[in-house]
Amino acid sequence: MNPFNRIKKINDSIPLRLKVWWYFIAFILLIFVLMWIFQIFFLETFYEKTKTKSIAENAEYIVSAYEEEYTNGRKTEFIEKYSETAVKNDVCVEILDRYGRSIYSKDVLGDCLVHGRGNSTYLFLDKIRASGKSQLLYKVQNPSSHNNMLICICTLGKNGRTDGYLLINSELAPVGSTVSIIKRQLVMITVILILMGAVISVFLANKISEPIDRITKSAENMARGDLNTEFDGRGYLEAQQLADTLMYAEKEISRVDTMQRDLIANVSHDLRTPLTMLKAYAEMIRDLSGDNPKKRNEHLEIIINETDRLSAMVNDILDLSKLESGRQKLNPSEFEISSKLHEIIGRFDGISEKMGYNIHFTPDIEKNVCCDVVKIEQVIYNLINNAINYTGDDKQVFVRQINQEDGVLIEVEDTGDGIEESKIKLIFDKYYRSENHKREVVGTGLGLSIVKAVLKLHGYDYGVRSTLGKGSVFWFRISN
Ligand code: ADP
Repeated sequence: MNPFNRIKKINDSIPLRLKVWWYFIAFILLIFVLMWIFQIFFLETFYEKTKTKSIAENAEYIVSAYEEEYTNGRKTEFIEKYSETAVKNDVCVEILDRYGRSIYSKDVLGDCLVHGRGNSTYLFLDKIRASGKSQLLYKVQNPSSHNNMLICICTLGKNGRTDGYLLINSELAPVGSTVSIIKRQLVMITVILILMGAVISVFLANKISEPIDRITKSAENMARGDLNTEFDGRGYLEAQQLADTLMYAEKEISRVDTMQRDLIANVSHDLRTPLTMLKAYAEMIRDLSGDNPKKRNEHLEIIINETDRLSAMVNDILDLSKLESGRQKLNPSEFEISSKLHEIIGRFDGISEKMGYNIHFTPDIEKNVCCDVVKIEQVIYNLINNAINYTGDDKQVFVRQINQEDGVLIEVEDTGDGIEESKIKLIFDKYYRSENHKREVVGTGLGLSIVKAVLKLHGYDYGVRSTLGKGSVFWFRISN
C-alpha cells in the first residue's frame, strides 16, 4: 500500500468524535498562533506605523490651517486649531518663523524635544532646508527619558514660499511592558479556549454522531433481515435525509422481497397443476387407455392442451419479467391499425367457429399509427382473449376502433359479469385472478399485467369501464 493510501486508511478509521475534537483544538491553536504573531511580534511595528501616520496627518492639518487661517489674518482661529490638534493627539507643536524663532508653541508632553531646545530645533531646521522637501520625519531618542520619539518638520507658507516652520513631536511609548501583559493574557486565553473548545467539541461531536450511531444500529438490524426496522434521523437535516433514504430503500427491498416470494409461490403453484395433470394423463394412457385409440387420443389431446398452456404461461412470465426489468426497449414502426385489428381478430376464427363466439369489429377510417407493433399486438390479443374468456352466455365480444384528434382509441367490450369497482385497480396487478366467474376460465393472471407494462412503456392511457352484470369495456389510446 502506498503511503498516501495508508494515511487515508488511518484517517478513515478515526472516529468522528475524535476528529471534531482534534479540528477544534487545531483551530484554537491556529487562532493562538495568529494572535501571538500579531500581538507580540508585530505590535511595535504596527504601533509605530500608526503613530507615524497620525503625526503626518496632524502636520498636514496644521499646515493647511496655516495657509487658510494664518496667512489670511485669522491668527486666533489658527491658534485654536493647532492647540486643539496638539491636545487631542498628545503631541507638542512648535511654530517657528523663517529664521527659526519660536512664534507659538504647545507643549502637551511636558518633555518636548522641540520646545525651548534651540540647538536640536536648529538641527532639524538645517535638515529640512538642506533636503529641499516640505516634510521630514525622524525617530530620535529622548536623552532624558530614553524613550523613542517621532519628530515631524514641515515648511509653512503659500505658493512655494517658506514663511516659517512647523515642528511636531510625539512620544513613542515603550511596548515592552504591554507585550509582556499581552503574552500572559494570551496564554490564559489559550488555556481557557482549549478547555472550552474541548467541552464544546465533545458536545458538538456527540450531537453529530448520535443520529449516525442510531442509524448505523438500525442499518445493522436491517442487514440481519429485519425489514421493519425504523430509522430515526432526528438531530439535523442530513441525518434525517439519510434515515428517510434508508427507510425508502428498506421499503423497496421489502417490496421486491415480497414480490419475489409471491412470484415463486404463484409460479410453482401454476406449474404444479398442469404438471400433475400431465403426469396423471400420461399414467392413464400407460395403464388404462393405451390400447383404446379413442380414449388414448382424448387423453393425448388433454396432454397437448396442457403443454400449450404451460408454454404460454412460461412465455408470459418471461415477457413480463423482461418488461418489468426495464431491459425491454420499444421498437416502433408505422402500420395500419384497422388492418392490424382485422388480422388479430382473424386469429380467433378457429375458437369462434368451434365454440360459437362472435367477435364484432367496428373499424374507423384506416389510419397509420406508430408504435411497437409486436407488443401492441399482444395487448390487443390479451384483451380480446380476456373478453372471450369472461363474456356472457351470449358469447358476444365487440372490438371498436375510434379515431380521435390525438390518436386512436381501441375498445374491447364483453357482456360478462363485469368487475366490481374495488377490483378494477387490482386486475392489472401481477397474478391477480378473481375467483367468482361463472365459467371455469383457465388463465395465468398475467395477461393484464403485460397489457399494463406495455402501455406504460409506450406512455399510452388505458382503463376499464364496467357495469356489474352487464359487462366491461377495456380501452387504450394509441397517441399520435
Ligand atoms: P387471467 O385472465 O389469466 O386470470 P389477467 O391478468 O388477464 O389474468 O386478468 C386478471 C383478472 O382480471 C382475471 O382473473 C379476471 O378476474 C379479471 N378480468 C380480466 N378481463 C376481464 C373481463 N373482460 N371481464 C371481467 N373480468 C376480467
